[in-house]
Amino acid sequence: MEMLINSKHISTEERMEVTNPYDNSIVDTIPVADEKIVRDAIKSAKNSKNKMTNLSSREIFYRLTEACTELKEQKEDIAKIITKETGKPISGSLYELDRSIETLMFAAEESKRVYGENVPIDAGLGGEGVIAFTKKIPLGVVAAITPFNYPVNLAIHKLAPALAARNTVILKPSREAPLSGLMLAEILANHFPEGVVNTLTGSGKLIGDLLVSNEDINKISFTGSVPIGTHIAKNAGMKKLTLELGGNDPTIVLKDADIEKAVSDIVNGAYLFSGQVCMGVKRIIVERDIIDEFTENLVKQTGKLKVGNPMNKDTDIGPLINTKAVEYVDEVVNDAVSNGANVEIGAKVKNNFYWPTVLTGIKEDMKIVSNETFGPIAPIIEAQDIDEAISIANNSKYGLNAGVFTQNIHNALKCVNSIESGSVFVNKASTFRTDNMPFGGFKYSGMGKEGIKYAVEDMCKTKLIGFNLN
Ligand code: NAD
Repeated sequence: MEMLINSKHISTEERMEVTNPYDNSIVDTIPVADEKIVRDAIKSAKNSKNKMTNLSSREIFYRLTEACTELKEQKEDIAKIITKETGKPISGSLYELDRSIETLMFAAEESKRVYGENVPIDAGLGGEGVIAFTKKIPLGVVAAITPFNYPVNLAIHKLAPALAARNTVILKPSREAPLSGLMLAEILANHFPEGVVNTLTGSGKLIGDLLVSNEDINKISFTGSVPIGTHIAKNAGMKKLTLELGGNDPTIVLKDADIEKAVSDIVNGAYLFSGQVCMGVKRIIVERDIIDEFTENLVKQTGKLKVGNPMNKDTDIGPLINTKAVEYVDEVVNDAVSNGANVEIGAKVKNNFYWPTVLTGIKEDMKIVSNETFGPIAPIIEAQDIDEAISIANNSKYGLNAGVFTQNIHNALKCVNSIESGSVFVNKASTFRTDNMPFGGFKYSGMGKEGIKYAVEDMCKTKLIGFNLN
């Protein structure tokens, strides 16, 4: 596929291969932008700003709605590309498309609700006789930088609200999985004026650093790892930032929980897309009295998962994104085992596959739970009571989502009030998001919220307008 700049396809002689992690075959190649191409994309987005501000809300709504219809028509094709470029089981890729279609509709609806408010300015000293109101106006150019794991849904969470708020955009998808995001951008570009939707592919560092430091970019909306997020925060200068970063999400299972329900939700949460999910269950904190029963159940359910070709409809676990990812997961599992953890099931490696793994005897300072592990691992940490469970949950630099299983309302309230994370779910694992809810973590998990309404707010600036009637 090619880049899109000022509504023209831009190719380069140098190409990068996009490989299928399932069999290492080449899915496609992408162009490699140099500094001039990055500047051309910024110029295109900057020069197209007026084309967006001239559109009425009604027009924006219809354009987004029509783009949504086209996305629906291409659903199967894009889902197959996600599976080829990421190794995500096809059922998950189709679900990602369903969510993305819904996200785009949320943005179309929200595009009609971009408005300010009357301000009772006469309540302040000197304000008598002045009337005032605010207007929400676009920021200008939004650069969207996305990771490999939800290449369409995370791109739509940036592009759609940016367009709903009448900005122009530049998408820089992940080098590992750029194709489906580029397909999405092509669809959006078909429904907006020339130059409004642009894409760049190539080196994340070169393109990222140029976008982040360029003064013609008004906002960086980034989803990815903590190290790159913090690097962006240091270099962004006076531009708006949304950073959706990594997670190390805890899910607590108290002794009064419905264990069967907890296990079935945690199996989904820990192993979804082989654990390569920011809000995946990455630490399972279980109260001592039920730890044996819980573990036995979890091992049983883990053993039922089907590992195999991600193109098969019944596959639960596909490969990890690349060999480096497999090596990292293997390294942290081995590190845990050499420090006293037990493998209850799994820990098998073949090519880019890592089998779903339950580990017990996990201590809080082991690498596997103190850093973000992006793999199909269910590490169980024992807690003697609810207070210790909360303290373990909060002993992390991350704070994205959290889950608590309990049937006692007092315990539920204690947990939701004490856990330091952007969302806490009771009787649901941490791995839960709908596309209209405010989503974004505390601590190193990021800053700002996505979820269409919240993202639209963040893609605007507020101007106050006053009339002196004295
Ligand atoms: P990554 O940080 O390696 O890459 C993310 C993007 O940053 C890519 O497009 C990459 O090319 C780009 N990039 C590289 N160098 C850059 C630079 N110097 N400046 C700007 N951009 C640069 O992340 P990944 O491995 O693709 O994805 C996994 C990470 O993303 C995990 O940490 C995961 O938790 C996180 N994530 C967070 C959320 C969330 O909503 N909080 C969602 C999904 C994934």
